Amino acid sequence: MKDEVLFSLSYGMYAIGVKGETRPSACIVNTVFQVTNKPNRIALSMNHNNYSHECIEKTGLFTVSVLSEDTPGTVIGALGFTSGRDADKLANVRHRVLAEGVPVIKENTCCWFLCRVVSRADTDTHTIFIGEILAGSDKSRGVPMTYDYYHKVIKGSAPVNAPTYRPAPRQDEGNDGGAWVCTVCGYLYNDPDVPFEELPADWVCPICGMPKSAFKRK
Ligand code: FE
Repeated sequence: MKDEVLFSLSYGMYAIGVKGETRPSACIVNTVFQVTNKPNRIALSMNHNNYSHECIEKTGLFTVSVLSEDTPGTVIGALGFTSGRDADKLANVRHRVLAEGVPVIKENTCCWFLCRVVSRADTDTHTIFIGEILAGSDKSRGVPMTYDYYHKVIKGSAPVNAPTYRPAPRQDEGNDGGAWVCTVCGYLYNDPDVPFEELPADWVCPICGMPKSAFKRK
């Protein structure tokens, strides 16, 4: 079987909130799904190397904020492509810290829920945490962002720790010569109407906010 067949599986886009050693933190994942409804339990797949993984192991708590199609790409950039070990990822992201010390994201998200880990399964690279939902939003707003929407409309990519990470195509695969790629988040700029060279000097990556100098020709 070819790995590409797995691209047919569908996912969403979620911010996972955790209580860190010194401050709340969060990261972006695409693998969250409901596994039972009595009681309501969900599964979350998280790479062993993620700081959020370490925090969930220590506290047994995490939140899920469901991103909407209106959640700015910069929120995904701020939470998805740096480590909470080194930086305050929530510094420029609107959020609320629950009484349990775990944050939920308020940037046009659809809804949120707070989970306590009740079970887990280990793989070589990822842990699948099963969480019981303790609390959450009363209603959901907006259209949930799917992983497909993130790739096709926002033109974002996945960091290497994502369970569904897709390596970038090689240069000889569909390269039209006019595309530039962000070296931080993988965002692909390829607008035939406005060549990259003609973008203003203060233009920044719409996903991670890095300047033009962070881009290289694909
Ligand atoms: Fe970027």
